[in-house]
Amino acid sequence: MRKITLSNGEIAHVDCLSCAITSGQVAPNGGVVIETDYFHAHQDVAYPIKGLVILASKRHIHCFDELNDDEKLDYINLLTTIRKAQREVLDIEYVYYFYNEDTTHHFHTWMVPRYEWMHAFGRSVESLRPVLLHARNQLNHEENEKEVREGIMFLREYIKNRSI
Ligand SMILES: [Zn+2]
Repeated sequence: MRKITLSNGEIAHVDCLSCAITSGQVAPNGGVVIETDYFHAHQDVAYPIKGLVILASKRHIHCFDELNDDEKLDYINLLTTIRKAQREVLDIEYVYYFYNEDTTHHFHTWMVPRYEWMHAFGRSVESLRPVLLHARNQLNHEENEKEVREGIMFLREYIKNRSI
């Protein structure tokens, strides 16, 4: 068991945060964007960046080549659907994708929108950690959290209306 501090200050005890979130045991701060049989897309619990989405598998796997055929198809469809929603409703021009297999959680892909303020932390992959830390430490206030929640709501509504 590991202790995980959520951005609302609560402490969750879980074996795997990805399992906890995709199974509904822990509610992601900011909310769920879309859920399918194989994946769960949500706002990350610790990094308040508007339009940031974590796409996590429901199965407790770690490596890309562990995805089965149904999951592969679902994954690329979800990635592109979420990406389109980010562009259409939040006007997000560029997104950084990050996925590491040696995670302490399980298979999940970060979709991090690129905003003007992030340029101060550099370009490309080296800027990712400072950007996330800045968000966690400096943007963790009520006004921004409200924006983040709104962003997730907009994404969720857009995707829901498209998939009917
Ligand atoms: Zn897991």
